[in-house]
Amino acid sequence: MSGVTFHSGENVPLEMHKVRIVQKLNLIAVEERQKAIAEAGNNTFLLRNRDVYLDMLTDSGVNAMSDKQLAAMMIADDSYAGSETYYRLEAKIEEIFGTKIFFPAHQGRACENILSKAFIKEGDVIPMNYHFTTTKSHIMLNGGRVEELFTDEAIKITSDNPFKGNMDIDKLLACIKENGPDRIPFVRMEAGTNLIGGQPFSLENYRQISKICKEYGIMLVLDASLLADNLYFMKVREDECKDMSIRQITREISDLTDIIYFSARKLGCARGGGICTNNAEAAEKMKELVPLYEGFLTYGGMSVREMEAITIGLDETMDINMINQGPLFIEYMVEQLEKKGVPVVTPAGGLGCHIDAMAFVDHIAQDQYPAGALAAAIYIASGVRGMERGTMSEQRNEDGSEQLSNMELVRLALPRRVFTMSQVKYAVDRIVWLYENRKLIEGLTFVEEPKILRFFFGRLAPVSNWQEKLVAKFREDFGDSL
Ligand SMILES: *Cc1c(COP(=O)(O)O)cnc(C)c1O
Repeated sequence: MSGVTFHSGENVPLEMHKVRIVQKLNLIAVEERQKAIAEAGNNTFLLRNRDVYLDMLTDSGVNAMSDKQLAAMMIADDSYAGSETYYRLEAKIEEIFGTKIFFPAHQGRACENILSKAFIKEGDVIPMNYHFTTTKSHIMLNGGRVEELFTDEAIKITSDNPFKGNMDIDKLLACIKENGPDRIPFVRMEAGTNLIGGQPFSLENYRQISKICKEYGIMLVLDASLLADNLYFMKVREDECKDMSIRQITREISDLTDIIYFSARKLGCARGGGICTNNAEAAEKMKELVPLYEGFLTYGGMSVREMEAITIGLDETMDINMINQGPLFIEYMVEQLEKKGVPVVTPAGGLGCHIDAMAFVDHIAQDQYPAGALAAAIYIASGVRGMERGTMSEQRNEDGSEQLSNMELVRLALPRRVFTMSQVKYAVDRIVWLYENRKLIEGLTFVEEPKILRFFFGRLAPVSNWQEKLVAKFREDFGDSL
């Protein structure tokens, strides 16, 4: 063994940290949960956290910090310009990525704004392995168009392909040929591809893409927000990475890249974000946008405490025993659910466990939001808060018809270092119970539907009294337990 995974009996992943600060959780009774989700318009975004037992909505900004991160935050050097805190972060970035130029930004999407404003002109095309919501919006706002060049495997729910996040090389060549390299300011690769289930790309695939970009004089941009998971998967799934350290793999990726940007709400378990590069010409185009949109070049909209936390968090990310925790817990959750027949996205990726609502509640039509209904039902059954990633998250077409989603998923995110194994087991048990009673779940319908970003603010109601029936069945099976 290469010392990568740490399992006790029955393939249970081991935590390589201990808990020293705790937050009290509430688990309210099932009747109260039904009331809470009704008050939230059956939209998990609108639940109050005090009514949530396990918050699996997202991994963004909710990863646990380490003792060393908290300690570093105390010695932050608070100054508008020239803060020592900034120089510590800049030096850590150079140590890890080998990049000499660093622009701080207040979060990941702020980096996307700067990149898009600096490089995209009307009519440009940005090829990528898969889009992310904020990325696509910024590209479109600047007159650009997204071309998703994923492989056929990427959008299959069940697969044993270890690198569903790869870009299809033939499609990239065809895209360059069709549009011409002048129309392509950069190719974007997203590590740990978020919207298809936290799926990684391989180092081999990335090297091929980098080579093609160099040949045609196109910049290669890496969205490294979910790089930690991607690094872990390269290490354990790719032969050439087996004997490399996480630092070596990181540097290999970085050397193939022109510009790296990241959300530090994920990478580095902190807040904020930034852009890293050795390309002086490209940096010149971005430089003046940083003070305009973010803040002076030595803070970029971040507090100095956040920057100290990122510096330590990035260093900790280079430790396999830190970055394996998320993927191992997710793998465990996916395997346990799969064993009981619950339809999930495979192979297990980073970020979280993704349940296939289209199969789980195959009796609910897509225009009654199967993933939204399932997310509401999971909350009622368990107090676990997940996120709908399906038709509810789409926007209606111009003519008012529904834009039906390719996949109907409920994402249960596992923020890094936050949940214990028994909490994961609890979530699995309740979801298995729900699966056995899935015919009780019915659809939802909008009662308040905003035109844009309806999944954030929209309010829905159940199409019948199915939630009362679900609560009654819960009482029948669980007695007076919560
Ligand atoms: C979260 C995320 C972003 C946006 O980052 P924010 O800090 O939330 O603005 C961009 N890309 C990917 C892949 C992400 O997961």
